[in-house]
Amino acid sequence: MAATIIDGKAVAARVRADVARDVEQFERETGGRPGLATVLVGDDPASGIYVANKQKACEEVGITGFDHRLGGDASHSEVSDLLDRLNADDAVSGILLQLPTPPQVDGPALATRIDPDKDVDGLTPISAGRLALGIEGLRPCTPSGVIELLDDAGVSLEGAEAVVVGRSNLVGKPLAQLLLARNATVTMCHSRTRDLAGTCRRADVLVAAVGVPELVRGDWVKPGAAVIDVGMNRTEEGLRGDVAFAEASEPAAFITPVPGGVGPMTIAMLLRNTLTAARLRARSGAAA
Ligand code: NAP
Repeated sequence: MAATIIDGKAVAARVRADVARDVEQFERETGGRPGLATVLVGDDPASGIYVANKQKACEEVGITGFDHRLGGDASHSEVSDLLDRLNADDAVSGILLQLPTPPQVDGPALATRIDPDKDVDGLTPISAGRLALGIEGLRPCTPSGVIELLDDAGVSLEGAEAVVVGRSNLVGKPLAQLLLARNATVTMCHSRTRDLAGTCRRADVLVAAVGVPELVRGDWVKPGAAVIDVGMNRTEEGLRGDVAFAEASEPAAFITPVPGGVGPMTIAMLLRNTLTAARLRARSGAAA
């Protein structure tokens, strides 16, 4: 195996430690702490665990958590009213509506009600527009985590051939924008791409965000490439990425494992986004 394994757990721990230190400084400067409001509607067990993990992570870095839980029978307008109250609450710097929501609540539509300056998921149309136009704003967490991993590994993005497999609004598209903003030459692939293997073989930086276990094979990887695997696929053999790890580790110079690669970065970047949102509000004269 030739590749250096990028340790996402270690990078995420460093980001969290940086956020904890910066939260202390923010408090010294402003007298307040950043606050993250999570909104969970219904009792989906997986969503409950995600929200609990986010709240715990906040506590660990000194961010105030506001844990809002509504019953599975909550109406669309109840959730909408709560988001409006959180938008107006100066103690709340960031708001996260956990998706999916029960059928009577249109979660994706409601997420667009979140004040863009509190949109710590970075996924609303205004945040996507700010990213596309290069305007300051909150960037989506998983794609930002990918950039953080590449930077931490010292992978140069300037002028690099970057290939992103997957064009979801959650990962592929914003990641392509972030890579472009760093002056990579970006190619986006998807299910209709004609020569996927050949396109991947051009990549200095190859990112797989597909949702198909081990789709990317070893002979798709250019020697010396950095390979980032966003995939999290539950299979009978356990959790698998979108990259055939053992094969791809031979030609690659850097590679992320699954688990322990991109996964731990998402919450770390959510914490950083919450601090960023608080700073932007403080700078604009509003409270945390
Ligand atoms: P998604 O919305 O399902 O999008 C998948 C993308 O992959 C689509 O653009 C699709 O193309 C493309 N695709 C599917 N099959 C393909 C194939 N055979 N060849 C080429 N392209 C193909 O998925 P997502 O939300 O972006 O998530 C992708 C993976 O990342 C999943 O495994 C997910 O669990 C994981 N994920 C991990 C994290 C994390 O924190 N680590 C966060 C988010 C997602 P079309 O557009 O043409 O259909």
